Amino acid sequence: MQQQCVWELSCKEPDPITEPLKQSLSVDVCVIGGGITGLSTALHLAEQGTSVCVLEAEQFAHGGSGRNVGLVNAGLWIPPDDIIDVLGEADGERANAILGAAPKQLFDLVERHQIQCDATRTGTLHLAHNSKGVKELERRYQQFSQRGAPVTLQRDAECERLVGSSRVPAALLDERAGTINPLAYTRGLARAAQQAGARLFSQSAAQSLQSETSGWVVPTAQGRVQAQQVVLATNAYTEQAWNVVKQHYFPGHFFQVASEPLSGSAADAILPDQQGCWDTRTVLSSLRKDVDGRLILGSLGRGDSKPQAFIKTWADRVQRHYFPQLGKVTWQCTWSGRIAFTPEHTLRVFSPANGLLAVTGYNGRGNTTGTVVGKGLSNYLLHGRDEDLPLPIRDSDPITGVPIRSLAYEAGFSLYHAGQCLRVLI
Ligand SMILES: Cc1cc2nc3c(=O)[nH]c(=O)nc-3n(C[C@H](O)[C@H](O)[C@H](O)COP(=O)(O)OP(=O)(O)OC[C@H]3O[C@@H](n4cnc5c(N)ncnc54)[C@H](O)[C@@H]3O)c2cc1C
Repeated sequence: MQQQCVWELSCKEPDPITEPLKQSLSVDVCVIGGGITGLSTALHLAEQGTSVCVLEAEQFAHGGSGRNVGLVNAGLWIPPDDIIDVLGEADGERANAILGAAPKQLFDLVERHQIQCDATRTGTLHLAHNSKGVKELERRYQQFSQRGAPVTLQRDAECERLVGSSRVPAALLDERAGTINPLAYTRGLARAAQQAGARLFSQSAAQSLQSETSGWVVPTAQGRVQAQQVVLATNAYTEQAWNVVKQHYFPGHFFQVASEPLSGSAADAILPDQQGCWDTRTVLSSLRKDVDGRLILGSLGRGDSKPQAFIKTWADRVQRHYFPQLGKVTWQCTWSGRIAFTPEHTLRVFSPANGLLAVTGYNGRGNTTGTVVGKGLSNYLLHGRDEDLPLPIRDSDPITGVPIRSLAYEAGFSLYHAGQCLRVLI
C-alpha cells in the first residue's frame, strides 16, 4: 500500500502553472493560502475587477482541499437545531440557510467554469450503524424537513439497494448534496481564478505580516506583497505563530484508504447511484467510490503515524462489516490530512485588525463552506456587506488548551479504531 492521495490518480485538472513570487508586488488584496477558501475568494474578487494575488506555501491544493473525502455537504456536521443552540436563532438560521444552499453554489461554479472534477449530484447518505444511529437520523430528518430540505429517510429494501449493504438499518438521503474529486475541484478553481486575472504564487510562504499606513506588507523568501487588505485562508495548515489563525482552532486528523479499482457484480451493487456516505459511529467512518470504482474508506485520526498493518486491519474490518460480498480487497493507497476543529463545532470568521480578515474551524466541512465563505469574503471586501457569509464577521476568542484538546481527540480516535480492529466494537 502506497502513501499517496487517491485523487492524484484520477485528477483531470492539471496542476496550475505557477511560480514562486520573486518580485515586489502591489495589489488590492493578498490572500494567504491556496485551498478552496483562498481560491474562491480570489476568483470572486478577480471576476469583479479587483487586483488580487494568492500566496501558497507549497503547491496549490496542498491542504485539506486537495485530500479530503470529496463530500459536497449541505450544512455543518451538527444538525440545524444544535447550530441554533450554539449561535442563537438569527445567526443559526442564517448559517442553516446559507450552508444548506451551498452545494448548489459549488455545483454552479463547476458548471460555469467547466471544472473536470467528476461531480456527482445524487446526494449523500448518512448511514445508521445501529438502532441508536437510527434515532439520530430520525432527529436530523425531522429538523431538515421542517426547514424544507429535500431529505428522505430510507429503510428496508431501498436502503439496502442504495448502500449495497444489509448492515445499515436506515440512511438519510440528502438530495442537495453530492461528491467531487476535491483535488480536481481545487485545481479548477485555481485555473478559473487565473483566467479571471488573479495572480497565483506557489512555494511562496508568507513569512510575516507587517502593518503599514497604506495597508499590509507580506514578505516571502524571494519577494514581498504590498496590499490594502489581507485574507488569512491557511485554516488547519497554519504553521507559524505570527499567523493569528493558529489560536482559533485545534488540529485533528483524518485518514483514508483506497482499494484498487473494483469491478464485477458485487462491486457494482455497492453505492450504485454514487452517493458519498458517512456513518453514525462516535468516531465516524466515511465510505464512497471514485470514478474508477475504487472503494474509499476513511475515519478520524492520524494514519501517517500508525503502522500500515493497523490501517489495513481497520479497512478490512470496515469493508467486511458493510460489504462482505466483496471478499478480500487489495488496498492500493493511504493518506491523511488535518482538520480545524473548534470547541463550538462551528466556523469562525473574524477580523483581527483593520484590513485583515481570517477564517477557520470548518470542522471537517470545507468543500461547500470554503466555496461560499470565499464568495462572501469577496463581497465584504468590495461592498462592505457580510450577509453572504454563513456568519457575521465578529470577534473570536483564542482557544485555550489547544495541544491537550488535540491529544485527547487523537487518543479517543485511536482507542475506538483499536476497538474496531479487535472486534470489541461492531
Ligand atoms: C482527510 C480530510 C477529509 C475531509 N473530508 C471533507 C469532506 O468530505 N467534505 C468537506 O466539505 N470537507 C472535508 N474536509 C474538510 C475540508 O477539506 C477543509 O475544511 C477545506 O479543504 C479547507 O479549505 P481551506 O482552503 O480553508 O484550507 P486548506 O485547503 O487547508 O488550505 C490552506 C492552505 O494554506 C497554505 N498555507 C499555510 N500557511 C501558509 C503560509 N504561511 N503562506 C502561504 N500559504 C500557507 C497551506 O499550504 C494550504 O495549502 C476534510 C478534511 C480532511 C483533512
